[in-house]
Amino acid sequence: MGKAPVEETTSESTKSASSKSQTHEFQAEVSKLLDLMINSLYKEKDIFLRELIANASDACDKLRYAAITKPELTDGDSNLKVVISADKDARTLTIQDNGIGMNQDELVANLGTIARSGTEAFLKLMKESDSETDANLIGQFGVGFYASFMVASKVDVFTRHAGEETGWHWESKGRGKFSIVEDNTAKRGAKIVLHLRKAEADFLDSVRIRHIVSTYSDHIALPIQLLEDGKEPETLNEGSALWTRLPSQITEEQHNEFYNHVAHLPGNPWATVHVQAEGRFEYTALLYIPDMRPFDLFDPARQHRVRLYVKRVFITDECEGLVPGFLRFMRGIVDCTDLPLNVSRETLQHNPLLAKISAGLVKRILSDIEKKAKKNPESYEAFWENFGAVLKEGIYEQSDHRDRLMKLARFRSLNSGEKLISLEDYVSGMADGQDAIYYLSGDAEAGINKSPQLEGFKARDIDVLFMTDPVDQFWLPTAADFSDKPFRSITQGSADLDKFETANEEDSDGDALTEVQTSESDMDKLIAMIKLTLGDEVKDVRSSSRLTESPVCLVADEGDVDMHFEKLLRQHQQPVMGHKRVLEINPGHALTRALADLVNREGASEALEDAAHLLFDQARILEGEALPDPASFSRRLAGLLAKTLVLDKR
Ligand code: ADP
Ligand code: MG
Repeated sequence: MGKAPVEETTSESTKSASSKSQTHEFQAEVSKLLDLMINSLYKEKDIFLRELIANASDACDKLRYAAITKPELTDGDSNLKVVISADKDARTLTIQDNGIGMNQDELVANLGTIARSGTEAFLKLMKESDSETDANLIGQFGVGFYASFMVASKVDVFTRHAGEETGWHWESKGRGKFSIVEDNTAKRGAKIVLHLRKAEADFLDSVRIRHIVSTYSDHIALPIQLLEDGKEPETLNEGSALWTRLPSQITEEQHNEFYNHVAHLPGNPWATVHVQAEGRFEYTALLYIPDMRPFDLFDPARQHRVRLYVKRVFITDECEGLVPGFLRFMRGIVDCTDLPLNVSRETLQHNPLLAKISAGLVKRILSDIEKKAKKNPESYEAFWENFGAVLKEGIYEQSDHRDRLMKLARFRSLNSGEKLISLEDYVSGMADGQDAIYYLSGDAEAGINKSPQLEGFKARDIDVLFMTDPVDQFWLPTAADFSDKPFRSITQGSADLDKFETANEEDSDGDALTEVQTSESDMDKLIAMIKLTLGDEVKDVRSSSRLTESPVCLVADEGDVDMHFEKLLRQHQQPVMGHKRVLEINPGHALTRALADLVNREGASEALEDAAHLLFDQARILEGEALPDPASFSRRLAGLLAKTLVLDKR
């Protein structure tokens, strides 16, 4: 809830009655953030300057765009630039731009609140650690301006919005409050004056300033000037758009720096894709694949952040259709010569040229990823861990790229250990007579590799792919097959594993479990008895070749919803059909054999019914499901234990 501004007359109230200062309170999140900034121990405080220059550059981009339709906005001063100056006596550092500027409402909204989502996540991250990397993450969360308070005890902003008469002076010491007063001396654009703390006076040193600008801002397509007393303004950067240079003329440092700027991410990109397309239509794209997950990667909006320029004028970073959702981790720019400059952003979105550019980019990006996967599989694994789950969305969304994406996909499996394998790897390692790609859906953290359904595959040395990303539940039903091998879930339908030999079949006669001979008909009687007892709690009860160690497991019937998928839907409060499951029992297990024997000798009994319920409950527990009736489970288990222990004593 915004507090009503408190009116107070400025001390030197020589101007008109309207020059009253309004005091505002920062939004609670901003106050928290500012406390962190003020008390920060971050090593890389330099980044405050990077953030202010980035803001100035954005402001100039916005003005350039607005001036397309209203050229009068830049009247008299169309040389857009950023000027930095230091005053050692006053201990102030000033960053001035002649961009779009802000009016009163914009000042309140932009420099008093945090509009973007993810603030909570950011505050948490900042609080948990004080490493330099974390300070570096500021830009990603859209809170760059507030970084000023890492070095300044007070910040003044003098600003006037292009095309408006009135200018404003924003002022704050960063502690809970800021004030705004009309100030018509403010020029178009924004002038940020930082009153540096004594300990931060180093930032007034021109050598230091030059160093920071060349480290972080050399690529900015706008002159950044240093104004020193009694000297001519000195331009510190190259000032030409990086992407217009020939690929061979861009150094790795320049790429890294530009990546930090456009991606708002620290570190170096995992891959760079620089396209300069000529011919039927011309465009340039300078795109990067990050080496880490941006914090909002899984936002429901699935927005990409690639910035669209037309003839070097920044248009928008929300151009739907420029980059598809399954490549939304890409960062960078696309600059197109052939798009019209004078139409609205919305109209631009529907320009057919955009779809063509997008198609070209997708092809190029995929082929670059394929090359990297081939050249350096280890590094590709790291990429896959970051963005594989996003890339897989393309398998069901973009059928034109399905085959390529399936080849790029990597999985853990029963036999792969910590390594990742491809579908091609899996198929080439299939057993004799194996005609399907077996997979198990589940949760990596919940120990997917301990699932009882895997036992029969383990015994026969048949590999099973682990599908641990929620997105797998969406593409698998649409994918049908890979190199003519259908995908088959091992928790669904019947498993005809009997056609494969178990690895240790020959020497298994000495096995303790095979001592008692149980005929098939005895087992059938047990199954019939369990079925009768459980009634419509289960869809069916079957003997299974899936199990070697566990006595029971649950599977979904052919055509029913996969059990893991149902669990995911429940977790996300989605409506669930609640399919009945099939209880499979292990005919080779000592327990089921003893039970079969008992049924054969004595027929049904209360103890056997209890056993049937306990077997079913056990299968549910193995699936990680909650028992619908824990009290009965506990009563039956206690009864059974008591009986066993009494028997033991006799
Ligand atoms: P971000 O730049 O990610 O939006 P910041 O905290 O750096 O977050 O800035 C907040 C907002 O304040 C900007 O989005 C912009 O609207 C406004 N702003 C900051 N600096 C300037 C400036 N020099 N000129 C005009 N507007 C600015
Ligand atoms: Mg910013």
